[in-house]
Formats: sequence, structure tokens, C-alpha cells
Amino acid sequence: ARELEWAINSPELLAEHAAINNGIVRTRFPPEPNGYLHIGHAKSMNMNFRLAFEKLGVPEEHRRTIFRYDDTNPDAESPEYIDSLRRDLEWLGWQPERTTYSSDNFQILYELAVKLIRKGLAYVCDMTKAEMEAQRDLAKRRSSALAVGKDPDIEAPIPSADILPGRNRGTSVERNLRLFEEMKLGLHDEGTYTLRLKMDFESSNPNMYDLVAYRIRYTPHPHAGKGWCIYPNYDFTHGICDSLERIDYSICTLEFETRREPYYWILWALDMFRPNVYEMSRLNLEYTVLSKRRLLKLVEANHVRGWSDPRMPTISGLRRRGYTKEIINTFCNDVGASRAMNVVQMDKLFQVARQTLADTTRRAMVVLDPIKVTILNFAEEAAKAGEGGMTFDVQNSPTDASLGTHSVTLTETVYIDSDDFRLDEDPNFYRMTPAQPVGLKYRGGNLICQEVIKDGAKVKELKCRLDTTAGRPKPKAHITWVPSDGISCEVRIYNHLFTEPEPSDRWEEELNPESEIVHPHAIVDPSVLPLVDKKFVDKWTSNQALQFERFGYFVVDVDTTFDSTTMEGKLIFNRTVSLKEDKAV
Ligand code: ATP
Ligand code: MG
Ligand code: MG
Repeated sequence: ARELEWAINSPELLAEHAAINNGIVRTRFPPEPNGYLHIGHAKSMNMNFRLAFEKLGVPEEHRRTIFRYDDTNPDAESPEYIDSLRRDLEWLGWQPERTTYSSDNFQILYELAVKLIRKGLAYVCDMTKAEMEAQRDLAKRRSSALAVGKDPDIEAPIPSADILPGRNRGTSVERNLRLFEEMKLGLHDEGTYTLRLKMDFESSNPNMYDLVAYRIRYTPHPHAGKGWCIYPNYDFTHGICDSLERIDYSICTLEFETRREPYYWILWALDMFRPNVYEMSRLNLEYTVLSKRRLLKLVEANHVRGWSDPRMPTISGLRRRGYTKEIINTFCNDVGASRAMNVVQMDKLFQVARQTLADTTRRAMVVLDPIKVTILNFAEEAAKAGEGGMTFDVQNSPTDASLGTHSVTLTETVYIDSDDFRLDEDPNFYRMTPAQPVGLKYRGGNLICQEVIKDGAKVKELKCRLDTTAGRPKPKAHITWVPSDGISCEVRIYNHLFTEPEPSDRWEEELNPESEIVHPHAIVDPSVLPLVDKKFVDKWTSNQALQFERFGYFVVDVDTTFDSTTMEGKLIFNRTVSLKEDKAV
């Protein structure tokens, strides 16, 4: 009931807010720059920049969203993170009304804290961390007793007023003003004093047990610089910034539900405008973790190639893997908004990727693990085919002719994938064996194996004849191939980062050792040459996407150093997603 009372704006505050916002409806997206944005944040952006307004029926011209760096913890924050957050947000296509920093309000927040001290609603506390924990624990046990109709003085008696309500709670305004000023001036060590809010130890909500609003920390701030050695905590900062920025709807994730009460208490105590607070469920995705703290651990332990590793659920990792902003935003929109806790299947994201990429990416042939094939009768066949007769046009998209064509040229030596040849005869294997011919895609001729050259157990080379006669037998399959001037490349295939759909507390032991499979000697059709130069590669934008026949959708990796004029350097492709569900290569 008190919570409801604290949340209510007076008619004066409402009138003032309406006059200032004047029809505008404002939300905010407030990440902390303590890591890179992940797909959970993309869901939150979709909510704050679009979905919330749609649900509220706000016309486009009245929609405003502030991008706020919630930067109150200098220990975890850095300029690298600040930079990446902005770039990822822009890449996703969201346009904030303006960008703000909580830390830009440090002076105002300080003044408001002083105001609370003057009102007798905040005090400087010298309790140690252990004492505060004991205090909190005791208050919790007393409120649980009360909740079941028991006597708290019997169930959880108070050993000393020193602990509950605490020895500093009744101290004078003068003492608190003086000590808070001294804290700010740097006259006290870290951990000696905190500023606490005089809330309610009888509440059933432990977030009302005299929250710490300020702590002493001698760490310079990545945005605010060196001027401060006291820093406000999340709860004290967040609501005040929302109110100062004239936010109408403050949307957060469900674990913040119990923080709503202190949020409103603080604004009530300061008689400031109170935004509407809503909670939504967090996005959880199967086979990954969506927590910056955990992702940071993966980076620090070198389990991945940094925050932008294609296996990471970060925006930069997804981008590097070939996920476009359309894919990510469509996925977030499909997931929608709810308060129900659920874990979304990774296949849902894959499905959106396939649908989005199918009609826009051009095709090329690639072999991941090549076997050299020499066509023994190539000269005769070429003579028969005549000038240009070994070059064929291939539609770039199998479904959309407007994407144009490219040509492929059959050469005396071609490469096929090691998967497409087997030494053993097997009626269920449709591709090439010593006795079974196979069709070559786009050529319309059959390869007939004449000789197998091995290196130990491994098939190294095949000598074949090409059969283009009209009466040739119909092959059971047509295989992909690349000509002799194919481009060497490395192809990286990705599997789930974790072996468990819902990584447990022992998540670091549940990492998938096969999350990345590297094919270092792959060869791609030379028709992609104009598209895959290092000069097109950029870590902050989408890179060239291609569809490799049979294997899926791929993107040029940012570590590519391939130079198409000298044909030197390394060309790397990452698989975005396979062509069909559950197709592992
Ligand atoms: P993390 O644990 O990954 O650091 P966070 O909530 O601490 O998450 P913030 O940087 O504070 O991260 O988040 C900015 C906004 O994004 C918040 O409003 C938060 O509620 C929202 N958000 C973060 N993770 C998710 C998620 N998995 N699903 C939906 N929204 C999220
Ligand atoms: Mg946060
Ligand atoms: Mg966090």
C-alpha cells in the first residue's frame, strides 16, 4: 500500500510533466558499459525503441528514446565498452533522441543526496560490510516471522540497537552533512563510510532495508574523470536519472521487480516526477549465456576469440558471424514481450536467419576438404565443346533471377569435397565411388573414376573420365566442385557454445569442445573474387554474405587479410547458419 502511495505523482507534478513533455512519450535504454551488448539487449532495444510505443499506440512523431550509459561503477567500466555500446546500437539501426550518461548527473545526484540528509531521510553509516549483512539478515528473519503471524521478538530477537536499526540511524543532520562532505573531499578511506537511505526495516522487501546510496571509491571514472571519490549506486541513480530525463515508461527486466519500491521511495522522498515502471522477462537463449559477467569470463579465460567471437551471443559476435540487423531485430520482434520466464530455442534465431538470407545472398561452390580430380579426357571434351564451351552461367540466386548470374569454368583439374567420394561401394551412398559415376553440378557430365591415388589411408587424388555422351547413365547425384583457379580459404563452422541447453552453475565445464570446427584448406569458386577482398572487411558493419551450395550461409570474417590484386593473404569464412535444420557438416 505504501509502495502505491510512493508511486503516485501529485497533480502538480503531473501537470508539470505534461507541460514539459507536451504529447511526447519517452522511454530509455540504459546499459552499463561493463561489457559488450548481447542479444538480450537487442530485445530490450526493440522494446524501448519500437514495441512499447506500438503497444501504447503512440504515433511515430511522438516517440522518443534516450540512450543512457548507466555508468556508476568505475571498476567495471571502460572506454572500449562505451565505444562498442554506441556502435552496436547504431548498427542495429536505432536512433536515440539523445545520448546521456548517468555520470553527467553526479553533481545533481550529490545535491539531491544532501537534500535527503537535510530532510532526515539519509545518514552516513560506519557499519562494516559484515555488520550490514547481519543487520539485513536479522531484519529479514523478523519480517518472515511477522508474515506468518509469529512474534519477531521471540523468533529473531534484536541483540543490540547497534545492529538494528543500527548505531548511525538516529544521528544528527549536522553530523551527516559534515561526514558526507568529508567523504566527498577524500578524507576517509574506502569502506569506512557509506551514505544510507532511511527507509524501512519492517518492510517485507529487503531492498527497503536502508539501501546504500553512496560508497567511497578511489577509482577514476571512465567518463566523469578524476573528480569523484564517492559514487552513487544503481538504485539511487537510476530513478533520479529517469525522472530528470522525463522518462514516461521505465522498462526493465523482472529481477528488478523488487527494486521498484526503493525506486518510488527515492523519488517520493525527493518529491520528483515518477515514471511508470514496467518489468519484462529477460531473454534467455538455449545453449548460451546472456550475462555480461559470464561472457567476460569466457573472454578472460580465452575460451573464445574475444567479445566478438562468432560463437558469442553478443551483437558484435553475431555480426561477425553474418547475422544482420534485420535478422536480429526480426527475431526480437518475434520473441515479443511477456512476463513469462522462458528459454527461447536457438533454432528460432537460425530460422529467421535462413529466411532472411535465402533471397538475398548469391551462391558459390566451395569444397571444405578438397580431393584433387584430374580429368583424363579433358582436352578431347574441350575440343568437342568448342570455344567457351566449358564455361557455364549460374543464376546467383536459385529463386530470384534479378540477382543476376556468374559463370563457372570447368578445368582439367577440379576439386571435389572428400565427403563426395568413398572407396567402399554402398547402395545408400549416391555420390562417387570407384564403380559409381557422379554428375558434376552445372556441367551435365558424369565423372567416372579411373584411378585412386592414396597417401596412406587418405585419398589424395582421383583420375577420372568425363562422360558427356547423350546416352550416358543418369547419375544418382550431382556434386559441387571448384576449378583449378579456385581461391584457398579457411572455413569455420560453428556449433553451440555449450553442450547444455540451459547451462548450469557449472557452466564453465559445459563448454562445447566442438563449438568451432576449422577447415584450413578449403577452396572457393573464383567467381567470388570481386567480393572478398580485405578492403571490404569492417568490424562494425555487416560483411559480404554468400551462400555456399550444400553447406549453408557464410560471411567473410573480419580477420581476413586476402588481397585480390596480389592474391595474397588469408581469406576466412564463418558459417552463419546451415541451409537446413540439424544439418551438421
Ligand atoms: P547483464 O547481466 O548481461 O550485464 P544487465 O541487465 O546487467 O545484464 P544492463 O547493461 O544493465 O545489463 O542492461 C541494459 C538494459 O538491457 C536493461 O534495461 C536490462 O533490463 C536489459 N537487458 C539486459 N539483459 C537482457 C535480457 N537478457 N533480456 C532482456 N533485456 C535485457
Ligand atoms: Mg544493469
Ligand atoms: Mg549486469
